[in-house]
Amino acid sequence: MTVILGGGISGLSAAYYAVNDARLSSIILLEASNRLGGWIRNRSSPSGAIFEQGPRTVRVLGGKNTLNLVEDLQLNDKLIHIDLYHPVAKNRLIYMDEALHRLPNSLKGIFKTTSLLDRPLINRIWTDLRAPKVSNEDESIHSFVQRRLGQDIADNLISPMICGICAGDAREISVNFLLKSLFEAEQKHGSIVKGMVAKKLKAFFAKSENKDNAGKEDKVNDEPTTKPSTLVRRAENEKWVVWGLQGGLEQLPQTLADYVKSRGVTIQTEKKCEKLTFKSDRVELLVNGDLQECSRVISSLCAKDLAELLREQHPKLSTELKAIPTVTVGVVNLEFQNNVLPLQAFGFLVPPKENLPLLGVLFDSCIFPGSSTVMTVMMGGAWFEKYFGSNPSEEQLLTTAINHIKNILVIEEEPVAYNVAILRDCIPQHVVGHNARVKRIHDYISAHHIPLALCGSSYEGVGLNDVILSAKQAVRDVVK
Ligand SMILES: Cc1cc2nc3c(=O)[nH]c(=O)nc-3n(C[C@H](O)[C@H](O)[C@H](O)COP(=O)(O)OP(=O)(O)OC[C@H]3O[C@@H](n4cnc5c(N)ncnc54)[C@H](O)[C@@H]3O)c2cc1C
Repeated sequence: MTVILGGGISGLSAAYYAVNDARLSSIILLEASNRLGGWIRNRSSPSGAIFEQGPRTVRVLGGKNTLNLVEDLQLNDKLIHIDLYHPVAKNRLIYMDEALHRLPNSLKGIFKTTSLLDRPLINRIWTDLRAPKVSNEDESIHSFVQRRLGQDIADNLISPMICGICAGDAREISVNFLLKSLFEAEQKHGSIVKGMVAKKLKAFFAKSENKDNAGKEDKVNDEPTTKPSTLVRRAENEKWVVWGLQGGLEQLPQTLADYVKSRGVTIQTEKKCEKLTFKSDRVELLVNGDLQECSRVISSLCAKDLAELLREQHPKLSTELKAIPTVTVGVVNLEFQNNVLPLQAFGFLVPPKENLPLLGVLFDSCIFPGSSTVMTVMMGGAWFEKYFGSNPSEEQLLTTAINHIKNILVIEEEPVAYNVAILRDCIPQHVVGHNARVKRIHDYISAHHIPLALCGSSYEGVGLNDVILSAKQAVRDVVK
């Protein structure tokens, strides 16, 4: 019997891949809370507007595997996509020095001086070519970008992007993890530009040597062996950038749960695993105080939570897992009756140097149009305690969000509906040294022959594409 821990999108995806693998039978999924979906959760306003508390869009780049899953779940009809030419894809904003600035979005833009940067982007080619190579195992994204491209890019572009990706501090996040190809370009070729040119040349020669495969290069190339579904081909042909689901993204875990249940997976909610003990011939699980047994475990829990379950039997592994930190995000969804937005855009991000509690604001109603204006204010992240202390009230978050939004977007009317959520420890941080730590974790598990496979946002990335792919890999690992 295989037990999957956690009923968020990773645990449910693991159940999906496990049920489609003939080598695994008798699969049980245990979820501690009374609902499935984990951080994917949406609520409705009285007018029917959707308030997404967690994720709302999924990237197409690196998401072939997820689109295949969506097609298999027959969710195609509910899919809403944004293509490359949509204003939402073109207009990405940064709030800095009390004004909104548009990120360059065309070839012309990289030759121009913008209000965000000291010099045009194109000049950075020379900055990068002149910057000396620093041999390194890893360093922070901020320090890497500052060295190679300039302080203004590190502060005004990259730092807010990291807030948008993982609510994190670019001065702590690992470049070798999040911008691996740029980091390797410097390590192998001495500069980002030289590395990119070398990569292009390599791809060109590989293509001309193998004419049969010419033109087949995948644009959403997360897993080259995966056969592209009709949906993937459509996404590529129509140049989709991101997609979401009409009526809310929570339908994805709900449909997945129905799919795996109909194929024999047992899903039990309100079943918290409290301890794992690996015996020579079985695994013992303490669940709500009762002992259960199985032959292998797939954990989709956050590394910190899994660390607790292993503390007694594997203290060294537990310490490594615990060392993957997390941040808390305050989410405030707001609905306004009229169109209060200055332009059609994805939203705006705020550089940490602005010293504001806001990480960024998403203009949901531009992505998913409706009759009112909906936006989501994300706050705190790596700076949650700094701005809100250890135990803020929901009112405090709501007031902070409304005041800042009214000021930044010059809105006079009051919101007609809102939703506030404090998402404790919701996003793992892949800090400097992350790759080496994850390798030590996997090495420990395999050296001790522990029948345990890991998936979820703590290890290979926090995006939905990353965690779904990690579930597929975990199923492969556990049958090995
Ligand atoms: C505010 C926010 C916005 C985001 N936006 C995006 C976005 O737009 N696009 C994108 O791609 N990604 C986004 N993400 C990231 C993405 O949502 C997450 O990485 C993903 O949902 C994590 O899923 P998971 O299944 O790995 O973990 P979780 O959702 O945390 O699921 C783990 C489950 O395990 C359960 N559990 C915990 N302990 C136990 C136990 N001991 N026993 C049994 N069960 C247990 C929990 O109750 C939970 O249900 C966002 C995340 C957040 C927080």
